Amino acid sequence: MTRPTTRPTAASAALFERARAVTPGGVNSPVRAFNAVGGTPRFIRSAAGAWLTDVDGNEYVDLICSWGPMLLGHAHPEVQARVAEAVARGTSYGAPTEPEVELAEEIAARAPVERVRFVSSGTEATMSAIRLARGFTGRDVVVKFAGCYHGHVDSLLASAGSGLATFAVPGTPGVPTSSTELTVVLPYNDRAAVEKVFAEHPGRIACLITEAAPGNMGVVPPEPGFNEFLAATCRANGALFVSDEVMTGFRASRFGQWGLDGALEGWRPDLVTFGKVMGGGFPAAAFGGRADVMSRLAPEGPVYQAGTLSGNPIATTAGLTTLRLATDEVYAHIGAAAETIRTAAADALTAAGVAHVVQSTGTMFSVFLTDVAAVRDFDDASTTSAPAYAAFFHEMLERGVYLPPSAYEAWFLSAAHDDRAVSTVLDALPHAARAAASA
Ligand code: PMP
Repeated sequence: MTRPTTRPTAASAALFERARAVTPGGVNSPVRAFNAVGGTPRFIRSAAGAWLTDVDGNEYVDLICSWGPMLLGHAHPEVQARVAEAVARGTSYGAPTEPEVELAEEIAARAPVERVRFVSSGTEATMSAIRLARGFTGRDVVVKFAGCYHGHVDSLLASAGSGLATFAVPGTPGVPTSSTELTVVLPYNDRAAVEKVFAEHPGRIACLITEAAPGNMGVVPPEPGFNEFLAATCRANGALFVSDEVMTGFRASRFGQWGLDGALEGWRPDLVTFGKVMGGGFPAAAFGGRADVMSRLAPEGPVYQAGTLSGNPIATTAGLTTLRLATDEVYAHIGAAAETIRTAAADALTAAGVAHVVQSTGTMFSVFLTDVAAVRDFDDASTTSAPAYAAFFHEMLERGVYLPPSAYEAWFLSAAHDDRAVSTVLDALPHAARAAASA
């Protein structure tokens, strides 16, 4: 689908054509291809602070921040400097290093984990956490929620089976039934469904994994006490509670989503997965948790897990520098900018007569173009109008704001989103709302 634009896109279009000849769909992660919104995906040449510059020279306020990692903004001078120093010392040794120890200590100081193991992607983190949960409990069944994304792990690319407590079916070709037949998929925020599945599979559930606050169906906050209920239900049934904080970790708040509910409600997950912010824009992720559970991992215990680039010194240096700079002031700034933008988005949509719901958790938020009163689960999120969002997205892009090219995503800000960046967004919103109204 082509869309009219007054901005130059010839260089992006030419690269996209070359890319499609050598890469499936022209991209290395599907959402980048703009399939959901149409038009030419912008190939990015550089980024600084809150701004992206594409290969045609267009500038955009970045509201995806690499899908979360760039908490401090792009090309932060201190992160750049520490990374440059690290690069000068060599880029990978396959032997332990000091930055890994320091980053693990920093994570353990901010999140409810006693031990941390580094990996290279969020997918690896959740895949490994599930293997460890199964190895620790000696059980096989995994429970997840529809609309929660945990990376492209075979057993988690699953869709709900025919009944509530029945086993899942593959969510994509290429995943064999044998990979999802030990997965149960439930509606999010549904306590009765959780109770039912534990009642129907006594002694078989190794773990329940959930996004600490889902961001991958748009932001759907856990209802008050929901995570606490999940933790308690798992504990009562001898299963592990795996909290996926790949997106929310060090992003929703300084202490992640756990800082917004667990720390206050007084519960702890058994395992937590991390990624994005803790890698400072490099391929790094982690999983961690209770010492007795983590000690089952090789080489201390029998559950195998490994990685050539795990704990890479450049990635851990970037992550460590980012976390050390991610002070209370950074979160307060991002929270205030997020509040300004989500209020303005709601006002603009109301003025244009577009049905919408704006939801947030900490500094993360989403704008759903739907007439449901609140989005509690994936079925609610699925009521979002795709054509209205596509029109909204393109009007924002035209006016210099790069939103997620999909209606089911969080909008991400950074410490570098200053008055100029925020006012560019505010100026664009009424036009985008009117475009959505006439879609
Ligand atoms: N878990 C969550 C909550 C995520 O948001 C993501 C990525 N969006 C992942 C896991 C997978 O991470 P990665 O893309 O690094 O494999």
